[in-house]
Amino acid sequence: MIVTVASGKGGTGKTTVAVSLALAVATDTVLPGQAPADDPSVVLLDCDVEEPNAHLFLRPSLDLRREVGVLTPVVDETRCTGCRRCAEVCAYHALAVIEGKVLVFAELCHGCGSCSWNCPEEAIREELRPTGLVEVGRAGALGFAQGILNVGEAMAVPVIRQVKKQGAAVVPGGLVVIDAPPGTSCPVVESLRGADYALLVTEPTPFGLHDLRMAVDVARCELGLPVGVVVNRTGVGDEGVDQYCRAERIPVLMRIPLDRRIAEACSDGLPLLEALPEYRQPFRDLYRQICQGVAG
Ligand code: SF4
Ligand code: SF4
Repeated sequence: MIVTVASGKGGTGKTTVAVSLALAVATDTVLPGQAPADDPSVVLLDCDVEEPNAHLFLRPSLDLRREVGVLTPVVDETRCTGCRRCAEVCAYHALAVIEGKVLVFAELCHGCGSCSWNCPEEAIREELRPTGLVEVGRAGALGFAQGILNVGEAMAVPVIRQVKKQGAAVVPGGLVVIDAPPGTSCPVVESLRGADYALLVTEPTPFGLHDLRMAVDVARCELGLPVGVVVNRTGVGDEGVDQYCRAERIPVLMRIPLDRRIAEACSDGLPLLEALPEYRQPFRDLYRQICQGVAG
């Protein structure tokens, strides 16, 4: 099962929830003193590739690091006739033909391959333009992978796709937890695509409600996923999030109070379940509710 933990805005505690959910389920699968199995039954994928930070809490051992990128066109000028076909078929305006010469705007290229496929002179070959890294490892019983987008790079989606492939390492019937980037743009959609459940983390404030609405629009309305909500930092703000969830029939699966001890654990780089073990059972209960939500 794939659960994507997302949030309409940054700073809601999304990574805390994703890490805690993964740890609560993973530690359930290994008895004290028992060595973790070779293939993990729970994998955490940090797809927040512009600012991956789950590793700060999990301190994984990373044993594989691979460069990833976008296949970008390179034009052989000795074969090119300047016919403009490549620029016409590029949906991303990554090519222009000026005075018979093809200009490639590599940062706009999505690597779809249309230009080389349509070139009548077979004048285009493709070269990998590095956009980031994927790192893979383990944190105890938990499988782990993260993507790191190169500084200044805009193409997050290809890196996220490569991180998601690491979810295949989980044993059949296991759990993949995806920590999505904040917001509702293309990288978030890619992180949600193919998931079985969208767990949306928000705060009980007007800003939290505004961004929750956008996240629900993407996850439930556009992608058709079952959604549930975790309300973080309860005790501040107003009733808006609860009223909205009631009206939209969206289950609020968990509430985490505003608690100085949680903030201190985060700033010390401690997993919530390590700093406050009393949260282990609530996160197991959260997983049980998600399973029920997936089963319908
Ligand atoms: S389609 Fe091929 S031949 Fe035509 S302009 Fe592009 S690269 Fe040149
Ligand atoms: S590979 Fe696709 S996105 Fe990139 S330049 Fe060619 S047509 Fe455009």
